[in-house]
Amino acid sequence: MLIVTFGAVVTATLATVLWLGTPSSYSKHPPVASVNPEPAEIAQETVASESPAIIEEPVVTAPQPIVAERTVRSGDTLMALLVKTGVARTEAHDAITALTKVYDPRDIRPGLQLTVTRHAPAAEAVPLLQHLDLLVDPIRRVSVRRDNAGTFKAEAIDKPLTTRASRAAGEIQSSLYVAGTRAGLPANTLARMIRIFSYDVDFQRDVQPGDSFDIMFERMHDDAGTPVAEGEILIAEMVLSGKKIRMYRHEADDGTVDYFDAKGRSSRKALTLTPIDGARISSGYGRRKHPILGYTKMHRGTDFAAPSGTPVYAAGNGTIEKAGRNGSYGRYIRIRHSGNYKTAYAHLRGYAKGIKSGRRVSQGQVIGYVGTSGRSTGPHLHYEILRGNKQINPKKLNLPSGRTLMGKELAQFNAMRNTLEDRYATLPTTTQMAKDDLQPASGPR
Ligand SMILES: [Zn+2]
Repeated sequence: MLIVTFGAVVTATLATVLWLGTPSSYSKHPPVASVNPEPAEIAQETVASESPAIIEEPVVTAPQPIVAERTVRSGDTLMALLVKTGVARTEAHDAITALTKVYDPRDIRPGLQLTVTRHAPAAEAVPLLQHLDLLVDPIRRVSVRRDNAGTFKAEAIDKPLTTRASRAAGEIQSSLYVAGTRAGLPANTLARMIRIFSYDVDFQRDVQPGDSFDIMFERMHDDAGTPVAEGEILIAEMVLSGKKIRMYRHEADDGTVDYFDAKGRSSRKALTLTPIDGARISSGYGRRKHPILGYTKMHRGTDFAAPSGTPVYAAGNGTIEKAGRNGSYGRYIRIRHSGNYKTAYAHLRGYAKGIKSGRRVSQGQVIGYVGTSGRSTGPHLHYEILRGNKQINPKKLNLPSGRTLMGKELAQFNAMRNTLEDRYATLPTTTQMAKDDLQPASGPR
């Protein structure tokens, strides 16, 4: 059973919002730039007073604006697109130069909608570029317009957005990814929720059928009510084998954002149990392509099955001790952390840029990609936590919580938590029966 709730709570106008959507979301057709056809300079019909006859002069029709719309395709440049729509190279160059004030033309990417308007000043004159308009994401439009003096002027327009809190909850039957998607959780929000819990949860082994989640998160909607961007996760809860973990977003006075439990203890720990994009982990049950091993006497690490190329994150802050081939481990990275801890990552397909021994890395930074190098039966990450130089069972690891709120900050947190809980309680619930089909699930590719 899935419960999805949407309710309007807070309204805000945001000038700029980080766009986190999927390319398919911006395939929506943009409104065509309104082109004001200039009043046609049709020659006045003259009536000669002396003559009863109406003299029909030839009607001269003013040139109409020529509007071309293009969807940017892979490999397109703005210059090439403009030239293709008939814009002269020098004009295109001037327009692009003006545009760079508000938008880097190198950011152009497939799927964007470009509208080019040309207009000839007079009949038989060459149509000149008047206006180019590019919808760079569902909330931002950039354009260049020729002013009366003939100079190109650029501007960026951000649509006003409304932030609404939503609630999504669901029971996991085959995989968290499937349940989250069914509950209407945007993919990025799901991935962020997993990161909040990844310090405490081994997403390969700890998530079982019957477990559940319940989250309150923000979404930005445009004036048509379409969700166009994802906001913050405000409350995140998971129930794993009957154990409830509920976290609240808290922004400290210095602006750092973290998630804390009801007692004000940070979710963040020195090392994560899931150093990988958890949404992409292949379900541990129902899919047995290769054994999903936990930590045993024979196997001193934990394996996370995920598609080749899935990003692998540094489990904690530290220094790269080794990044290179290591026998049956294949492509291998080992990081040295404080407190005599180390973490190791094996069977990688490759290393992230700049990853080599001696480099400092921070928690959550991408260090490499899942692969099947070395002695491996399929794409997976083999992850080890070491103390001294001995592998230890991550489940036995009892790392202290990152930070505990105290005094005035705890009081502030408690007040904010009550506000969040009140907001959460007011969200109306719509119950939606969604049958999780128990198909072997895999994460998004
Ligand atoms: Zn392994």
